[in-house]
This record gives sequence, structure tokens and C-alpha cells, in this order.
Amino acid sequence: MKGGLALIEFIDVNKHYGNFHVLRDINLKIEEGEVVVIIGPSGSGKSTLLRCINRLEAISSGELIVNGTLLHTKKVDINQFRRDIGMVFQQFNLYPHKKVIDNIVLAPTRVLGLSKEEATKTAMRYLKRVGIADKADSYPAQLSGGQQQRVAIARSLTMNPKIMLFDEPTSALDPEMIGEVLDVMRSLTHEGMTMVIVTHEMGFAREVADRVVFMDEGQILEVAPSSKFFAKPQEDRAKTFLSRLI
Ligand code: ADP
Ligand code: MG
Repeated sequence: MKGGLALIEFIDVNKHYGNFHVLRDINLKIEEGEVVVIIGPSGSGKSTLLRCINRLEAISSGELIVNGTLLHTKKVDINQFRRDIGMVFQQFNLYPHKKVIDNIVLAPTRVLGLSKEEATKTAMRYLKRVGIADKADSYPAQLSGGQQQRVAIARSLTMNPKIMLFDEPTSALDPEMIGEVLDVMRSLTHEGMTMVIVTHEMGFAREVADRVVFMDEGQILEVAPSSKFFAKPQEDRAKTFLSRLI
């Protein structure tokens, strides 16, 4: 545990898609500065859980509190709320007709009201951070997948978020590009960013996670410190899941 302040708290959360019960009695508290990695089989509800955190999905019952906002109530200013939460997806979602720098300054100018000059300065700082300042004037198609994903991360960081959510950020990348994206994520963990990461990169998970959350069939079956989880998972389904990866 880090600072002791919960930034994200699920209390008895359930979610249905029609008749399908996708999240079952989720209880999870994530503290400021914590790095939590969510793992589990395909279809177990990992993306849904992540998407509830920035209200891309609504919960059906229970309570969900994120960054002091009660998301289960109706009176939520979603745009205001989402400013503090960055999300990086498997697909990079960059605008193909806009240069890298223009992709990044869009939200800070429109949403935060920064001047173009200020936003560009911040954007360049983060492009440097992710190692591709020289690509500012390129178009996304001129970049490799790994570079595009790093632009997507820089774009999120330029909004100065309190929480970063990652949903399989390296799954669409060629193997030789996975490392450069994980390096950027690793550096964020060293800076105390609160991060919730869904990934199949178990070596990375083991290294950076403060805690690992194992999900199956919409339930959290195990939550444990990374070293403990990977050395000795307690749940049979977690053991089976890990053994199949090796
Ligand atoms: P994971 O990310 O662990 O692979 P997801 O959260 O994407 O799992 O999906 C969990 C389950 O919910 C899957 O069975 C999936 O088919 C189903 N599901 C996901 N999104 C929707 C949706 N919008 N409508 C109906 N079912 C969905
Ligand atoms: Mg998913």
C-alpha cells in the first residue's frame, strides 16, 4: 500500500449487459500511486472493469468511487471527471489526417483551454519523454506501431491525469516494438503515477505491479502482491491460467 488514500474504490459492484452478468460482486480499492495489473482469460471482464473506471461503461449496482467522484450516481459531469483519467487502448486511435503534434494538442486546447503555444510546449515535453520528439511533424501512418502507441501515451500524459488506464497496450504490436512501449510505462511507474493495467505481458506485470488482480468469469478470484501472486498463486484457476502461459 502506498499513500493510504483510495483513488478508486469498487464496492459490491455488479454489471450486466442485458441478461449477461459481466461483473460479479467486485470489491477493489486502489490507492494513490499504486500500480495494479489485471490479468485473466479472454472474456473474463477485464476491459469492462477498466472501462467502468472512466465511465465508458456504467455499473448496474453497487458503488464506484473514482478520484472522489461517486460514479454510481446520476449527477456526474463526465467531461470534467474524465480530464483526470488517461486511457490507452490496444488500438492507438490517432487521427490519421493530423500530425503527431496536432493529435496531442487537440484535447489540452479544447478541453483544458490551454493556448496553442502552451499546449505545444507541454506536448513536446511529453514527446521527448516517450523518446519521439523528432516525430512531432510526422503523420501517424509514417510511424511504427510502437511509436504510435508512444504518441497515444504522450497524448494522455499531456492532460496531466491522476490515473492512467491501459487496456492491453502492446497486444496489437509486433514483438520487437513491445519493449519500447513497456519501457515508457515502466518509467511512469517510477514517477508515482496511479496505474491500472490490463496486460498479457507477465514478465512486465511481475516487475511493475504492486498488486495483481486475477479475474475469471466476471469475478475477482485473487488479489495479491505481485511477488506473492507469481511465486504462489492461491486459486486453482489462477494456477491453471499461469501454467498455460509458460
Ligand atoms: P476481457 O477484456 O477480459 O476479454 P471483456 O470485459 O471485454 O473481457 O468482456 C467480458 C464479457 O462481456 C465477454 O463475454 C464479452 O463478450 C462481453 N461483452 C463485452 N462487451 C459487451 C457489450 N457491449 N455487450 C454485450 N456483451 C459484451
Ligand atoms: Mg479486454
